[in-house]
Amino acid sequence: MNYFEDEKIDEVERKNSAFAVVRALREATTIARRRTQPTTYEQTLNMLYDLDEELYSKVVNLIEVKNESDTVKYYKEKASVVDDPNSLFTTTPESLLEKDIDEHQEWLKTTDDASKLKFLRTQLYRLKAARKFFSPKRLSEHKILEHDFFIAKRHPFVQKQIYEDEQVKDYNLDGERMLRLRLLHPDRDEHILGADLIYEIFDLVNERVRFVHLQYKTWDKGVLYLKQGNIKDQLNKMQSNLCSVGFCKSEIGNNHSDLYRMPFCCGFLRPTEKLQMVQKKLKSSGIHLPICEVMKNIGDDDKITKSNSKGRNISSTVFSELFIENIIGSRWHSMNQLEEYYEKRDIESLYNNIRIHAQEFPILSDEDYARK
Ligand SMILES: [Zn+2]
Repeated sequence: MNYFEDEKIDEVERKNSAFAVVRALREATTIARRRTQPTTYEQTLNMLYDLDEELYSKVVNLIEVKNESDTVKYYKEKASVVDDPNSLFTTTPESLLEKDIDEHQEWLKTTDDASKLKFLRTQLYRLKAARKFFSPKRLSEHKILEHDFFIAKRHPFVQKQIYEDEQVKDYNLDGERMLRLRLLHPDRDEHILGADLIYEIFDLVNERVRFVHLQYKTWDKGVLYLKQGNIKDQLNKMQSNLCSVGFCKSEIGNNHSDLYRMPFCCGFLRPTEKLQMVQKKLKSSGIHLPICEVMKNIGDDDKITKSNSKGRNISSTVFSELFIENIIGSRWHSMNQLEEYYEKRDIESLYNNIRIHAQEFPILSDEDYARK
C-alpha cells in the first residue's frame, strides 16, 4: 500500500488518515481488553507493528514529529564522510554517538561537583537526545496482547474467510476469549479518507453476534465539512448499509428497547481533532455520533459541528464501556444473518477506507461443545 508515501496526496490528509488508523486500533484494543484505562498510544503502536510491520513504519513516519536537531544532522553528516564502504563494519551516526557519549561520561566522572564541567554536561544531554532520535522503539516491551496461542477446538465460524487476500491475526484475551484482527486497505488509494473499525462480539453457544461500525474522521476545530472529499458519500453509504437495512432496530422493529439501553444504532461517526503532539505524547479526544442522528441534523450548510451534535453524542470515555455492556450498538443478530449481510452488501467495498475488522470470540470449552 503506497497511500501513506504518495506525495501526490496532501501530506496533512495522509497524516490524518495515519492518525485515524491508530485511533481505530486503539479503540479496538480498548474494547477487547476490558480495562477502564484506554490502551496507550505506545501500546497501540506496538500492536500495529505486530499486525503489519510495513504499515507501522509508514504510519509512524507520518505521525511522529521527529525534529532533527543540529546534533543529529552533524552525526548524519559525519557518518556519511567517515564510513568506509570497503570496511567490514559500517559506521553509523549511532555508533559515532555512542563513542562520544562514553567519552563524555568518562570525563564527567572526574568530578562530583555538578556546577563544574557545565558545557560537557550540556553536550552529553544533547548527544543522548540525538541517540534517542536514531534508536528504534523497543517493541517487544509493553506487549499488551499475546498471539500465537493454542486452542484445541475452534468453532467452524472462527475459521471463516471474509475478505479476499485477508491476513488474520489472533490474540489471546482474558476471560477465555480471543480477538481476531484483520487490517485491510482498499485497492484504490485515492478514496481513503480516515479509517474504519468494525467490531463484532460473538456468542458462539447461542450462534449470535452484535456489532458496531465506526468511521474515523478528522475535524478542524470542531467542524467537519461534508463537502470535503467524499465524506458525505461515505456517511450516506454507512447509513444505507446499516440503518436503512434495519440493523438499527430491535427484533420487533423499534429502534429502542424495552430494556434499559441506548437506541439501537450500530454505526457511529468518530470526528476527532487534528493530530496533536505534546512532547511526543499523542492526545486525542473526540465523540461518537450515531449515524441515524448524523444524517438528520447536518442542515443546509453540510457540516457537522460540536454545537449541532451537542446532546446527541457519546463521549469516547464511556463508549467502550456501554458497548461491552450491550447498552449501545446493534441488537443480537444470528450469525447466519451476519454472513448473509457480508455477502449481500459486499463488505469488501463497504466504505473504501483503511479498515480494522475486529472479532471477539469466546473460547469454547468441551462442555460448551457437548451442550451444542
Ligand atoms: Zn443507525
